Amino acid sequence: MRQHLIDPEICIRCNTCETRCPTGAISHAANYVVDPDICNFCMRCVRPCPTGAIDNWFNVTRPFTLTEQHEWTILPQPEPELERAVPDAFDDEATRILTIAHQGLGGAARAPASASKPRINAFTRAAPARATVVGNSRITAEGCNSDVHHIILDFGAEPFSYLEGQSIGLVPPGLDAQGRPHEMRLYSAASARDGERPNTNNMALTVKRIAGDGVTGVASNWLCDRALGDSFDVVGPFGATFLMPDDPQADLLMICTGTGVSPFRGFTHRRRRTAPQGPGGLFLFFGARTPEELPYFGPLQRYLQTELHRELVYSRVNLEEHEYVQDRLERRAELVAGLLTKPSTHLYVCGLKGLEAGVEGAIGRISAAHGLDWPAIRSALRQEGRMHVETY
Ligand SMILES: Cc1cc2nc3c(=O)[nH]c(=O)nc-3n(C[C@H](O)[C@H](O)[C@H](O)COP(=O)(O)OP(=O)(O)OC[C@H]3O[C@@H](n4cnc5c(N)ncnc54)[C@H](O)[C@@H]3O)c2cc1C
Ligand code: SF4
Ligand code: SF4
Repeated sequence: MRQHLIDPEICIRCNTCETRCPTGAISHAANYVVDPDICNFCMRCVRPCPTGAIDNWFNVTRPFTLTEQHEWTILPQPEPELERAVPDAFDDEATRILTIAHQGLGGAARAPASASKPRINAFTRAAPARATVVGNSRITAEGCNSDVHHIILDFGAEPFSYLEGQSIGLVPPGLDAQGRPHEMRLYSAASARDGERPNTNNMALTVKRIAGDGVTGVASNWLCDRALGDSFDVVGPFGATFLMPDDPQADLLMICTGTGVSPFRGFTHRRRRTAPQGPGGLFLFFGARTPEELPYFGPLQRYLQTELHRELVYSRVNLEEHEYVQDRLERRAELVAGLLTKPSTHLYVCGLKGLEAGVEGAIGRISAAHGLDWPAIRSALRQEGRMHVETY
């Protein structure tokens, strides 16, 4: 079971959490403590805490009692089997969606060892954040089949902290065909944790309008049609594993199609701001049908290959060849095999579900050709928090 705990070393005993807890789960004497029988994980205490001391979630076989919590001077070291538990989300619907999105390529997902500690679900359905649209522009060529928007959401005076790779949730207005409220949709942050420009309290999204072939996507059309100044509620952030390492030595091998590029834009901005000289490299394999349909085609050209090694792959330019991301991976087999054997490499796959099988096959063949045992490498990468999949 999961238990919510307060770090006595960091807590400044300001009493904010106790006054905000609607259930009376928090009390204090020697320490501020959380009653495991009462806490319902509503998260209302987490956001207002000035220190972050309250944002600790452990997997436990037996919950720590209040007496035990009062005796601590530091948080106990979790046993290996009682690992610190940062769930992907506290919202049931977001958890369900993310479990499906992160289950690809086998094995349990783990965050990179050097990733910053993510804050999860600070904004809930009961207490959402208000986002105002301050930017909305099409980032694929006018007239082409793929209408993708770069949308910037500003959170005003309420700090909305998130990490690259996390996503936010929103429930589009209106009712579904059965007359029920729509389900939540998730969208990945396309900006770095400090905003579109450094030190701004905003988040960019990359949203593809789902339209055509008799299908009109509810949330994506609604979002792409938002005007500047429109505001709506969002929840989150969600996601505790699909995160970037803070270690500047880490090499990031990022494989995506379509809006799967969104988190990788955030990763790239973060790395360029914090460790522009590396030494870790950024390697992006990005597939689209044509250059016109490739989101951020123009901005991507501004990077030197040494800053962001790009492999932009088009499946509908050379009609005799139909080159896909997996084909390009195989064409760059030396580069990919070299990265697979480096202990500093983190492998990311993001985009539509169909991408996984192709990537898996290509990496398997590259490994075999280079005498590498891909299943063993894959399980080590997973175990070490160096392989991350998010597909939808
Ligand atoms: C973790 C996570 C992160 C995500 N990040 C992003 C993101 O950064 N940008 C983004 O645009 N989307 C992202 N999505 C997908 C997003 O949540 C929605 O599913 C998507 O916008 C479609 O929602 P909709 O309401 O417009 O379509 P719906 O009304 O739900 O679906 C309408 C029809 O479109 C089909 N469909 C749904 N999605 C797609 C698709 N991508 N391509 C083709 N057909 C589709 C459905 O099968 C359905 O038949 C993410 C999903 C997850 C789980
Ligand atoms: S998560 Fe909710 S119920 Fe639990 S301690 Fe915090 S405010 Fe109280
Ligand atoms: S709000 Fe944070 S710092 Fe203040 S008492 Fe609660 S846990 Fe401690």
